[in-house]
Amino acid sequence: MPRFDLHSHSTASDGVLPPAALVARALDHGVDVLALTDHDDTAGLAEARAAAAGTTLTLVTGVEISVTWERHTVHVVGLHVDPLSTALDEGLAAIRRGRDTRARAIAQSLAKAGIAGAYEGALEFVTSERLVSRTHFARFLVERGHVKDMKAAFKRFLVPGKPGYVPHAWAPLADAIAWIHAAGGQAVVAHPGRYPLTATGMRRLLGAFRDAGGDGVEILSSSHSAAQATEFATYARVFGLLGSCGSDFHGPGESWIELGALPPLPAGVTPVWTDW
Ligand code: AMP
Ligand code: MN
Ligand code: MN
Ligand code: MN
Repeated sequence: MPRFDLHSHSTASDGVLPPAALVARALDHGVDVLALTDHDDTAGLAEARAAAAGTTLTLVTGVEISVTWERHTVHVVGLHVDPLSTALDEGLAAIRRGRDTRARAIAQSLAKAGIAGAYEGALEFVTSERLVSRTHFARFLVERGHVKDMKAAFKRFLVPGKPGYVPHAWAPLADAIAWIHAAGGQAVVAHPGRYPLTATGMRRLLGAFRDAGGDGVEILSSSHSAAQATEFATYARVFGLLGSCGSDFHGPGESWIELGALPPLPAGVTPVWTDW
């Protein structure tokens, strides 16, 4: 059975490694099929594809779209998307414009908490002029000594109820799924275990996702415990969704697990790659 890792990030969004280096690292760690799924952008895919050409690694062209569903931020991964799709490209461009506006508001909120220059500071950590994220603010907060590490940056700042958090309207769920499908891809709910939802809320989310044409759900993720993997395997069966797995790798030292470091999907789950 090939080793699949269907969720990862590069410098095209908030990852640490450029796409070619990410592909090289995936090969070093025995990954056979890697999806590059940068946040709200497909700009890294050409470099990743070129780096994978002529190697044993199959590159899946992916994306991770930021969505707002019932006031919750939810991430939807697209797998096998055509980066040249106009619908997808325009949708992602609109999300990225919203990110810049949000970044200025985040900086204002941090300024009120006594941290000046955060917008310019975060931009120093941005690796693609196309996209600024909370991760870049977190790196700025660490580097300036406001917090000791990334985890602390997200605990003390940048999350609901803390300075530097700004509520934001991302793409509607149905739009994200429609863009992914217009681009010929499959839509997968990313790391469902990370959303602060009750069991009822999770069923509503997965029901809404499935009813909007969504295809799969991540079962194995660095964000999930073994118990959550079992739980989401059951949800996948109940909702008729395919199962996916991804490390959500962001970079050496900044990620919870290494590229490709996931166990096999639980029995009874239909893998998202069944028809590939
Ligand atoms: P954004 O899409 O700009 O809201 O940024 C979200 C990103 O922040 C996620 O994709 C993660 O990479 C990162 N992130 C969120 N929470 C944490 C955390 N607790 N520790 C480290 N990184 C986090
Ligand atoms: Mn990220
Ligand atoms: Mn995510
Ligand atoms: Mn991710």
